[in-house]
Amino acid sequence: MAVITCEVVKDLLPLYVDGILSEDSRILVEEHLAACPHCKS
Ligand SMILES: [Zn+2]
Repeated sequence: MAVITCEVVKDLLPLYVDGILSEDSRILVEEHLAACPHCKS
């Protein structure tokens, strides 16, 4: 059950990798990545 869509994750991923996401956004991305088979790779 992702609270954000794959498209949002794709937008946020570069920021996530650079470590400049806010903690709230980072948690959303991590939870999505953990739950979404499409974003696993
Ligand atoms: Zn996804």
